[in-house]
Amino acid sequence: MKISEVHIWKEALGLKRPYTIAYKTVTHVENVIVKIVLENGLTGWGAANPSKYVVGEDVDDTLHWLTFQHQAYDLLTGKDIRPIGTLLNDIYTHSHLHAGALAALDIALHDAFCRLLGVPLVNWLGRVHDKWLTSVTIGILPVAETLAEAEALIGQGFRCLKIKLGHSPEEDVERLVKLRERWKDLPLRVDANQGYSEQDLLKVYTHIQKLNIELIEQPLPAASIPAFRQLPDEIKAKIALDESLIHPQDAYQLSLPPAAGGIFNIKLMKCGGIRQAMHIATIARQAGISLMWGCNDESIISITAALHAALACPHTRYVDLDGSFDLMKDVVSGGFHVQDGYLMPLLDRPGLGVDPLS
Ligand SMILES: [Mg+2]
Repeated sequence: MKISEVHIWKEALGLKRPYTIAYKTVTHVENVIVKIVLENGLTGWGAANPSKYVVGEDVDDTLHWLTFQHQAYDLLTGKDIRPIGTLLNDIYTHSHLHAGALAALDIALHDAFCRLLGVPLVNWLGRVHDKWLTSVTIGILPVAETLAEAEALIGQGFRCLKIKLGHSPEEDVERLVKLRERWKDLPLRVDANQGYSEQDLLKVYTHIQKLNIELIEQPLPAASIPAFRQLPDEIKAKIALDESLIHPQDAYQLSLPPAAGGIFNIKLMKCGGIRQAMHIATIARQAGISLMWGCNDESIISITAALHAALACPHTRYVDLDGSFDLMKDVVSGGFHVQDGYLMPLLDRPGLGVDPLS
């Protein structure tokens, strides 16, 4: 079954509300979209929105790499999709230094291939979970606004919050104390996006130790691996490595004893798609490290792909796949249901189960 067409373009998806994290404010969102068409008319969808700050590539770089001199078209057009392992090897050889480009192609190939087989992607990968609770993120806001935002999100049915920290340790503590006072049992996780020093972290931890915070994502700069390794075990067990973990090679290094954290935050936009994500997952499993699945501001396409990968890993413990909720528009519908904060893939649909909107 040959790939007859490859379409690649950039789509403005908008953003309902701007938000701030430790190192930037985001006001609008664009994704690169990849659509593969098989000779029988079946399609496969991929998307990418890599972070320049994290992987050195933005959507314009992704688009340029995929379309320059028709490289991606030439790589895939006319190829039989059934030996998908060979195609995934080929795109890795071509694009492994371009995480967004690799992710978009990888996701589109997996979707088209599983549609051809007639199975949901998660079942082909090896489903071990049917659904998972996702957190939704609150950017850095004054304390009162943080509480109001939490109230609104809980009112919308979400059951787990991720709070962005990293501008002011004192205010961060106040924010978390107030949230915990208001919601005694709500799962809370935090992400400082490299905004703390080691001293900040230790000080903040003494104040939030009793607040039942699920995890502390990337408190220290990405390169602070020796500092992460030396943290007290109690803190380290809650550390989710995000910006420090890009590729499977990082996963290997970070997992060497003493491991740098108890949790790996895998994002398809960092590692380059499903295949690389599963390599990271395998390393983590051998090292006894739990998985968190994160995202950027992404179309339903790549959010769904990450959800399918998450549900195929027995050591998945945290899902943070809220990246499509705040987009003004998307290029597809479907992908997953949201119920009481849980994300559920469409298990009666092949591939990712997404439908084009036009
Ligand atoms: Mg993060």
